Amino acid sequence: MSKLPFVPFDPLKERVNIIDVMNALPLEMVAQKRPGEWRGKCPACQSADKSLVVTDGKGYTCYSRRGQAMEAQGDVIQLVRHVLDLNEPLEAAHWIVDAFHLDIDELRGKKTVTKPSTVLTKKPIEEGSRGANPPIVAQRGMRPLEHLEPEHEAVTALGLIPDDARRIGVGYAPRGVMKGTVAWPVRLSDGTLIGYIGLSAAILPSNWRY
Ligand SMILES: [Zn+2]
Repeated sequence: MSKLPFVPFDPLKERVNIIDVMNALPLEMVAQKRPGEWRGKCPACQSADKSLVVTDGKGYTCYSRRGQAMEAQGDVIQLVRHVLDLNEPLEAAHWIVDAFHLDIDELRGKKTVTKPSTVLTKKPIEEGSRGANPPIVAQRGMRPLEHLEPEHEAVTALGLIPDDARRIGVGYAPRGVMKGTVAWPVRLSDGTLIGYIGLSAAILPSNWRY
């Protein structure tokens, strides 16, 4: 077997949802009454019953090997390894990287998802400025900024209550590249976050609703 390049597991696990991975695998899973729980036949174990259970936010268990020395349960990487009957977790990690078009260098922290300069502007929104500097669409989504403050008075000043701001992902940035602005997420039509626009002043539509 050729030596596969290293993929850090923790950042990979943060980037993918186990249900999305489950759906990408050759499985026929059925949603259970318990929210987030799915059940189906395990192609690796070729079990007659629906022995494979995947739980959103937790992991998987394959009950056809329950009690055996080879315990079949674990995280999203172990799920792929089990279902596809792969030898190494690293092979499973690479399968996920390929299936979700992830960038190994990005997972290793060697580069950031989007260059702020390509998608961010600190200029207030004014008439005539629209379209002057169109954002360059990133190929992949970025992770939401975690330090934004939805309760900040600069957010309220836009006419946005903190609850709505939180739901949209809007907040005042006390530091970082968006420092001193209200950071407003920019998303593709499929919901992928590609950057932020920094607002220092804006007027929301009078009939504003989230
Ligand atoms: Zn199994």
